[in-house]
Amino acid sequence: MKLNYKYPTAYTINSLNVLNTALATLPAYKDWRQFDPGPSYSVDARYASLPALNKKDIRAHFPAGFVPPEKDLQQALDSKEIEFVKTSGSIDIAVTNIWYQKWWDASEKSSWQLNAYAQKLATGNHREAILVNPMNVGIISDDKPLSLQERTLSRFLYLNERTSPAFWTEAHMERMAEELNVFQPDVLEANPSLLAKLCRYLAAAGRKVYQPGLIIFTYEYPAVLHLRQIRQVFQSPLASSYGSTETGYVFMQCEAGKFHHNYEACRVDFQPLKKEHGGPAVGRILVTPFNNPWYYLLRFYVGDLVRIDETGVCACGRDHGMLLSAIEGRTFSATLTTSGRLVTLREADNVISAFTEIEEYKIEQTAARHYDVSLVASFQHRNTLNKNVTEALKNLYGSEAEIVIIYREMILPETSGKHCLVKTTFPIDIEDYLEK
Ligand SMILES: [Zn+2]
Repeated sequence: MKLNYKYPTAYTINSLNVLNTALATLPAYKDWRQFDPGPSYSVDARYASLPALNKKDIRAHFPAGFVPPEKDLQQALDSKEIEFVKTSGSIDIAVTNIWYQKWWDASEKSSWQLNAYAQKLATGNHREAILVNPMNVGIISDDKPLSLQERTLSRFLYLNERTSPAFWTEAHMERMAEELNVFQPDVLEANPSLLAKLCRYLAAAGRKVYQPGLIIFTYEYPAVLHLRQIRQVFQSPLASSYGSTETGYVFMQCEAGKFHHNYEACRVDFQPLKKEHGGPAVGRILVTPFNNPWYYLLRFYVGDLVRIDETGVCACGRDHGMLLSAIEGRTFSATLTTSGRLVTLREADNVISAFTEIEEYKIEQTAARHYDVSLVASFQHRNTLNKNVTEALKNLYGSEAEIVIIYREMILPETSGKHCLVKTTFPIDIEDYLEK
């Protein structure tokens, strides 16, 4: 499959600037120089000849390996121009990154141009309510509730201070609904699993809430069942924003539902999976952030799989940059069929989320043929679910698949604070599945 996207000249210039600075001056890329065919080749060919940067490479060379030698790191840290931030490592390995707020804000701002509602509402001084796990962003307080003032930071309101939905009470969810009504956010940013939990409660209580102009999903993959639960309460436009601490904002879902590349802020290289594992339309992406003078990441492997939009056109009319029809989910949320084919999170989610009786789920593949499936569902549905879910998962994973269904009161988030829908308890090296 040939990928022929339109880019402005600035994209090539930005790509070259990062490449040249990184290869010429930065210790982290010293061993990469041997792979670069040199300036007589196109920028795309030069990028394609280089390896991927992994989190363990960041750990090995942090921080000096990524900062140009003329920059004074200590002085910038002292003056608070930059800081070090840690990401949690429950599933992935933990890394410390250099955080440069100006770069992050610029990346967020350009991503807003890729969705008509965000473009209109996100002025930079719009009111934003945030419903996330405070372990990812916000203020943690599990033992006592924080006041509205304590959770308000300029134009942002953090609706939740508790690190697990296990600590959510009815009063806590009532407070969130009330605060949405009072604060009237232009934008609501949410972990889909947490917003879905709030919506299950509000729908059962028959409670109406303020409808924000746009709901943006971050941090987690929005399962089809989460979206369905959210739709029972919110008619607002929904959009997924895709990015990471290391890369900034990489893709934004437009009003027509496809994912557009935030090409002003970063370069994206696509590596297809082998045909038998979903390629060439499905593959992994490597991201090179632009315009961050403090932190040069080249071809960073975020850990996600995406699906290229094969038509190459979107109803919204935006025609620059890479176009995706879907985010396929984290690589650690990929599983294997009993014959060894890779199954993305999206593929597994489509199967499980088709059962409208299921409120929450988690699939853990523990061995080549063994799958533990935790479900949250009411008693009355359990008998039929046992049979139908087992059958559907055997269709997906193979007739020899051992499917063990366990019912739970709730599915707890990982120690990172994020909700995990699907995972294996053994490592899968994605490199083995890439087309060479
Ligand atoms: Zn579009």
